[in-house]
Amino acid sequence: MDDSQEHNLGALVTQWYKKNGRQNLPWRKSVTPYKVWISEMMLQQTQVVTAQSYYRKFLKKYPSLSSMKMATEDDILSLWSGLGYYRRASFIYQAKEKIFLDFNGRFPATYDELITLPGIGRSTAGAILSIAYQKPFPILDANVKRVIARLFLKKDFKEGLFWNLSAQCLDEDDPYSYQQGIMDIGATLCTPKAPLCPECPLNKNCLAFKKNDFRLPSTKKPIKKDVYLEFSLYKDGPRYFLAQTEALGFWKKLWMPPVKIVNKFNATNKHALSHRHIHFRFKQITNLPTDMKGKWFSKKDLANIALPKPISDKLLQDG
Ligand code: SF4
Repeated sequence: MDDSQEHNLGALVTQWYKKNGRQNLPWRKSVTPYKVWISEMMLQQTQVVTAQSYYRKFLKKYPSLSSMKMATEDDILSLWSGLGYYRRASFIYQAKEKIFLDFNGRFPATYDELITLPGIGRSTAGAILSIAYQKPFPILDANVKRVIARLFLKKDFKEGLFWNLSAQCLDEDDPYSYQQGIMDIGATLCTPKAPLCPECPLNKNCLAFKKNDFRLPSTKKPIKKDVYLEFSLYKDGPRYFLAQTEALGFWKKLWMPPVKIVNKFNATNKHALSHRHIHFRFKQITNLPTDMKGKWFSKKDLANIALPKPISDKLLQDG
């Protein structure tokens, strides 16, 4: 690929986005830095299709940064209930606190400022700067990484090199459309298993397409540990007794029935986390020990607190 071809890549992506991009996604309407931030945090580990309803719910409660000023961490976690990777919600809370403390409530507009916020790394900062501020900064999320790997036929993932290639592709004239476009190409055309190359605006420049070789750099999957949990369900009429615990090492700050890690058992209930397979069961308990720490919640309250997905599924289906 010569320099002039590389130079054109950004414009090709921009043109394609304007005609074919997913411009109807909720976070692409009346864009603000705040909205881009919330959507990018959600999209870090969640598919677009799932993120949309959570994003709408979040924006309904907190339509702007100023509306979130007094929100507690629990308030933000409750909007994340069921979405997983709850650290992202805690990061939003911590970043919001920092914005009001250190930036006087002004959403940061430079890379050096953004990168100081909890939960914002180089790629999320790049997305906010390009999309909300029209500043050409590269991003390197999973979709863009895949496009770069194939476009330049790179079989090993070398972070520095991929950042340089991502920066080379930018369209400095229209960072907003380019960035949305490259993400959409990664998500809708350059898919992991069956890329739709004939429809891709980059196919004339793409080495993987030319060589018919679409293999991607190998990624090491984390080895997942099995964890067996027993939840004690205390019920008083329509109310549940729930507690927060740090003892599990995950689901910190989420509400759940008192729980303990137990020896392996034959579980029918399973739930996957990024680094663990959770196997769990429930035990109905009638007498609550007097020293048990926690709170009682009515079924109606459950909608306003953060619960792990298996717990919300269980309690909401319970009669
Ligand atoms: S031509 Fe095919 S492999 Fe190359 S970037 Fe486009 S979709 Fe991906």
